[in-house]
Amino acid sequence: MLVFVVGTEQRPLSPCHPARARRLLSAGKAAVWRRYPFTIILKRAVPDAQPAPLRLKIDPGSRTTGLALVHDVSGQVVWAAELAHRGQRIHEALLARRALRRNRRQRHTRYRPMRFDSRRWPDGWLPPSLESRISNVLTWVDRVRRYAPVGALSQELVRCDTQLLENPAISGVDYQQGTLAGYEVREYLLEQVQRGCAYCGATDVPLQVEHIVPKARGGTKRVSNLAIACEPCNPAKGQQPAAEFGHPEVQAQAKCPLSDAAAVNASRWALYRRLQPTGLPVQVGTCGCTKGNRTQRGLPKAHGIDAACVGMSTPQHVLCAGIVPLVIAATGRHSRQMCRTNASGFPDKAPKATSVVAGMRTGDLVRAVVPVPAITRGTYIGRLAVRATGSCNVKSRGGTVQGIHIRHCRPLHRADGYSYQKGEAALPPPALKGGASAPRF
Ligand SMILES: [Zn+2]
Repeated sequence: MLVFVVGTEQRPLSPCHPARARRLLSAGKAAVWRRYPFTIILKRAVPDAQPAPLRLKIDPGSRTTGLALVHDVSGQVVWAAELAHRGQRIHEALLARRALRRNRRQRHTRYRPMRFDSRRWPDGWLPPSLESRISNVLTWVDRVRRYAPVGALSQELVRCDTQLLENPAISGVDYQQGTLAGYEVREYLLEQVQRGCAYCGATDVPLQVEHIVPKARGGTKRVSNLAIACEPCNPAKGQQPAAEFGHPEVQAQAKCPLSDAAAVNASRWALYRRLQPTGLPVQVGTCGCTKGNRTQRGLPKAHGIDAACVGMSTPQHVLCAGIVPLVIAATGRHSRQMCRTNASGFPDKAPKATSVVAGMRTGDLVRAVVPVPAITRGTYIGRLAVRATGSCNVKSRGGTVQGIHIRHCRPLHRADGYSYQKGEAALPPPALKGGASAPRF
């Protein structure tokens, strides 16, 4: 894993070995510019020839996107990251907002008319959960270009065929028509359970269609997630999946959801189109190409390594031993909610009044040194949660410490919408012969 270096005028230079960065820092020739990803800035202008261009490779996924910065000629992986998206949380937040607005319509307060088909979606519109995945990737392409000399991009442009994922042998008319051709959903389900409740087996009673894994628990509206239940069983099951309700045999019928594949399918071309304005050549590779490159080079499966194997440009030897990926998780910035609610969804709090206290905001990584008389004395490094009173919380590895005053905190890394962790290397570092250093270029 090399360290990013920028010149005095903040132009990206060739990344350097950590030992060299350490020497530059201790000699006072460079300063830490950014903690995540670790970047140093030189204090004196150096006559650096044109830095060797690197290729940024992207392996987009529904939950996690792999990023790898690779030197095309030597095959050295310079940097790798796993970017965890927050699509599911955005989806949940929008559901919560919808529930709140529905509830508002019933109250004698400012009237909010129902709006569902009054607006036209612009071309290329994507749901916010998918939009956030694309924005996360674009943000990181932009950031990496600021710290390293990126000369080209590679993107995996997968098409997950959901029919084939399900049944690899399907073809012809069956492929075109799918499972439900010629059926109504209800009739299809009734036929499956011999016209009785899927849970208690009751027949000749009013039956209802219900979700095996409830929508509130991430279940989809696919037909394989639907079952027939009688009137007492449906509310008794409530928000439990069938297995928790004591019916693992019903749960086994539900096929695993295809929502992840659908999310990648829906956003792959949008990402490709939005990478074009960077002006860099974008190479695309298929899922099979990535897997072939990886297995041919005998590399294990990991997000960072998959990313390094994207596309036809993958060098013959991918040097990724000892590369520790940076685990980046999208956290969002702050809440813009104007009406906060209690656990039951009733509005009971005013919107957040303060987001900046003494120049720091929630999410900043800080070092807090609390002097001796205080109960919380000690040194803490962690994420800050600001309070208007100045008595803040610091969430560190050892847990959350409450009541640390803001005056004891010094910022280490400003909140930038992401949290960072050190990942685990997929391959151990290579043994160095006689103190030789890792290859440089
Ligand atoms: Zn029943």
